[in-house]
Amino acid sequence: MKGRLSSFPRFPLLDGPTPIERLTRLEQVLGAAAGGARLWVKRDDVMRVGGGGNKLRKLEFLIGEAVAQGCDTFITTGGLQSNHARQSAAAAARAGLACELMLSDVVPRHDEAYRTNGNLLLDDLFGATVHRLPGDVNALAAAQARAEEIGREGRRAYVVGSGGSSPLGCLGYVVCAAEILEQEQAVDRRFEAIVVPNGSAGTHAGLAAGLSAAGDDPRRILSFTVLAPLDKAIEDTRRLASEALHLIAPDRNLAGDAIRIDGSQRGEAYGLPTDAMVGALRIMARSEGLLLDPVYSGKAFAGVLDGMHNGVWEDRDVLFVMTGGTPGLFAYRDAIARDD
Ligand SMILES: *Cc1c(COP(=O)(O)O)cnc(C)c1O
Repeated sequence: MKGRLSSFPRFPLLDGPTPIERLTRLEQVLGAAAGGARLWVKRDDVMRVGGGGNKLRKLEFLIGEAVAQGCDTFITTGGLQSNHARQSAAAAARAGLACELMLSDVVPRHDEAYRTNGNLLLDDLFGATVHRLPGDVNALAAAQARAEEIGREGRRAYVVGSGGSSPLGCLGYVVCAAEILEQEQAVDRRFEAIVVPNGSAGTHAGLAAGLSAAGDDPRRILSFTVLAPLDKAIEDTRRLASEALHLIAPDRNLAGDAIRIDGSQRGEAYGLPTDAMVGALRIMARSEGLLLDPVYSGKAFAGVLDGMHNGVWEDRDVLFVMTGGTPGLFAYRDAIARDD
């Protein structure tokens, strides 16, 4: 697997493996509510470029391919508060590429903070050109049309859709799966569950492809969907995991029951806060000094707390992948602050 992985061009954005830490203080604070589980986090929120986050792993491969193809512009899509768009803007700046972002108004939040602060502030700071689109416009088609326009000017644009979740982008999480397997050996432990949020499915799909390619069990991964309804999330994640696996281990097939997803934390819709999410943000911040985000990791970690409380992982080790998204906190002031 490693041989094939290294055949894809990569633009370095990480410093090497992200650390895994145990949350002993949170275990203490939870007490009996920890349900006898040992809780660990993999710190994909701590990276050296652009405020960090899970999209940088995918962007190593995506920007790598853009540069290899001789592109001068990187175009991607997302919601107004897309973490992926912000990390793309930062990574493109570092690679010397222009960045254009097609951002759709898909989340019904109309307050000033949501529409101007957080990731949007940073997109501009990183020098990206932001195109705001109504929620019902096909943003990927708009991105492709813009790329053609750029082509007619004699330049060359690279286009990837929301979340950077193309099969190539998923290779970033194939790398993460390999890191986890090595880190497990180093601490002589095996995680019963590896928990991640699921938005555009690339994080889960990449991890599933990575564990499958290594002959390990992808059913150890559990994701909480925050965007697609459960059935669609399972279907999308399975397809993407198969495609990513095909890139690195064409002789292997994804097991039929490889993809496990929980739909209980999504709430009303993508980007709409839930009480459980706010509770998860607070307990993590107050007991460990760590930041979850309101759209993805806060909802997924609420699911972890729920599972612990129900004793699902008694006497087991659970690994939660912290995926970043801190700038989103400033865009969700109204949902999180207690002063109004
Ligand atoms: C995009 C994102 C996710 C979800 O990752 P996908 O690969 O899109 O499923 C999780 N957490 C944060 C903070 C994100 O920005």
